[in-house]
Amino acid sequence: MGDHVVTLNAGSSSVKFALFTVGAAVWPRLVAAGKVEGIGATPRFRVRVAGDEASETQLGLLDQKGAIAEILAWIERAYPDIAIGAIGHRVVHGGLRLTAPTVVDDPTLAALRELIPLAPLHQPYNIAGLEAARQAFPHVPQVACFDTAFHHGRAFVDEAYALPYSYYERGLRRFGFHGLSYEYIARRMREIDPIRAEGGAIVAHLGNGASLCAMKGGRSVATSMGFSTLDGLAMGTRCGQIDPGLLLYLLQSEGMSADELSRLLYDDSGLLGLSGLSSDMRALEASNAPRAGAAIDYFIHHIKMGIAALAATIGGFDALVFTAGIGERSARVRAGVVDGLDWLGLKLDNEANMRDAGKISDAMSRAPVFVTPTNEEAMIARHTIEAAGLERVVT
Ligand code: ADP
Repeated sequence: MGDHVVTLNAGSSSVKFALFTVGAAVWPRLVAAGKVEGIGATPRFRVRVAGDEASETQLGLLDQKGAIAEILAWIERAYPDIAIGAIGHRVVHGGLRLTAPTVVDDPTLAALRELIPLAPLHQPYNIAGLEAARQAFPHVPQVACFDTAFHHGRAFVDEAYALPYSYYERGLRRFGFHGLSYEYIARRMREIDPIRAEGGAIVAHLGNGASLCAMKGGRSVATSMGFSTLDGLAMGTRCGQIDPGLLLYLLQSEGMSADELSRLLYDDSGLLGLSGLSSDMRALEASNAPRAGAAIDYFIHHIKMGIAALAATIGGFDALVFTAGIGERSARVRAGVVDGLDWLGLKLDNEANMRDAGKISDAMSRAPVFVTPTNEEAMIARHTIEAAGLERVVT
């Protein structure tokens, strides 16, 4: 029986991994984490063993498969005595049928491949990661954990688009993403504030990708991302909510090709497109350029709108939670959002906000505002342990 699990998150230019001990604790204990980044350019392997400084090694040119081979070989070298009981994979899309963590077999892989057109920029790399890990460890269960799963089973009015009903039946729906992060936050909420966790909460996952989720009793009721990872908030390089009429105009009147449109919407828009400077919030905050400020203002404006809209779906909220890179570390963005929602009774504790405290609302606030670090790897590890039957995890 394996005493460790590995989590893998394979993307287009990086593969992130983490190694956890399987134990009796509710949350598996992190042993080491790192990533191969710069795939396709100048790959580097960065790893941090719990409690130590990170170390970095340059690698020769490789693809996702090569990156996973490097990661698994490093684990075998660094921890020769451990037994890997299962490998957990972040998979962006589970579609309508894969709605819970799943031990991957050939039919599951085939089902995942069918979903590539729904998430062309993520799913192929997730599948490449699964295939490479399966090849390297053929006797170890591979568990796919889906970003869409947490949002499964929302009401028709939230899942459907107002297209002819047959489109809904064909599965062209608002799926929602960042589900592993939201699920982790929902479970942490139960630990941090169990009473409020039973009520309504809005969670703002603000990283390179960004979305909002309205939850009731820890379940997703509504979310800002939809059929693809483009909808909702503006992101590092993605446009967020946009009028489909504008897209028709670009296709029909400006003769833009589908590929050009895809690049525009996924890679050249969002904070990068608006600022003309960077997709990185730190760089924008450090800049005096007016367009950098305008990009941040746009980001904040649409988060406020999104929170107000989502609040309506759950009849108001008992807690607001910020998470992911920007949510956890940008005092400026959090202040912009919370101060802009003072009409809802939210009151910021400026000093707590400046130091990224766990709770950044003051005592007069109608609802608490939390800053809660997300941990998608821990969520994947926990699912992987359960799905592979390594241990009964007490919830
Ligand atoms: P990903 O979605 O790729 O996992 P992260 O959750 O790591 O991304 O978030 C990355 C974003 O967080 C970037 O825009 C980065 O600039 C921002 N960020 C990280 N640290 C800070 C900070 N101290 N202040 C403001 N923004 C930050």
